[in-house]
Amino acid sequence: MSLLVVGSVAYDGIETPFGEKERILGGSATYISLTSSYFAEQVNLVGVVGKDFADEDIELFKSRKVDLTGLQIDLSGNTFFWKGKYHYDLNNRDTLDTQLNVFEHFDPVIPDSYKNATYIALGNIEPSLQLKVLDQVEKPKFVVMDTMNFWIDGALDSLKNTLKKIDLLVINDSEARELAGEPNLLKAAELVRAMGPQSLIIKKGEHGALLFTENEIFSAPAYPVIDIFDPTGAGDSFLGGLLGWLSYTDDLSPQNMRRSVIFGSVMASFCVEKFGPERLKNLSEKEIYDRYREFRDLSFVPEVGL
Ligand code: AMP
Repeated sequence: MSLLVVGSVAYDGIETPFGEKERILGGSATYISLTSSYFAEQVNLVGVVGKDFADEDIELFKSRKVDLTGLQIDLSGNTFFWKGKYHYDLNNRDTLDTQLNVFEHFDPVIPDSYKNATYIALGNIEPSLQLKVLDQVEKPKFVVMDTMNFWIDGALDSLKNTLKKIDLLVINDSEARELAGEPNLLKAAELVRAMGPQSLIIKKGEHGALLFTENEIFSAPAYPVIDIFDPTGAGDSFLGGLLGWLSYTDDLSPQNMRRSVIFGSVMASFCVEKFGPERLKNLSEKEIYDRYREFRDLSFVPEVGL
């Protein structure tokens, strides 16, 4: 099944306690499309870049067979730039700089060849633009969306309108509490689901993720083995792995939703092992499935036998 990805394509400056990169490929759509490309039959990208966007980065998308018909190249300015700094607690980061550049007037136009997309990933952009994407597509089967505190604080009404049109929202724990106005995570999850999405995933940074659906709650473990080098893109890689798997299998059963959460965690765990999207450039199938099994074994509990 084909997968439509909409979001930011960026250059990032990143500082972590382990090193620094002045300018490296980033953006939510970048991480989602690279990670989902390991599963989905076809990944179609919608975004915008500026006149400074490097040929080698175009080549990277092409090497992963990501279709760029929907990538606008706006020669009037530079690509969106974001700079962040992490401290030893890698769950928190400071934004040091945001230069919207051509992203400021981003108007997502869905090419005709993408309009029959069955699976859609709405990366973290202004909620009204996410809605605009949904207005242009025919009849998607499953729509997943990411958002952030910035939009909860500054565009709540439009965020709530978009929430009515999606199937799964993926946010972190502080965002879920803020959106619901409720400190208890279980109660917050019910309140957020009542806003529209049938399913909700709450990410808890390095502590795993919770999937809330109509009838169950599934807790995915965190992966304790790897050294986290640069957390940038972990959330988007989670979304890409998850939706890539769902589109590949075209199976939305509760069992397969659980698998998708683990594939999301697998791709996020690879992402953080190196700076930027470096580790996502050429993973092997074996690496991906081996790590899936490691995740599975982490929380496998035998029957009590009583
Ligand atoms: P994540 O670490 O998964 O939350 O996403 C990191 C990516 O988000 C970085 O590569 C940034 O380029 C991108 N990003 C940062 N701020 C924004 C923003 N305001 N809108 C869209 N993308 C952003």
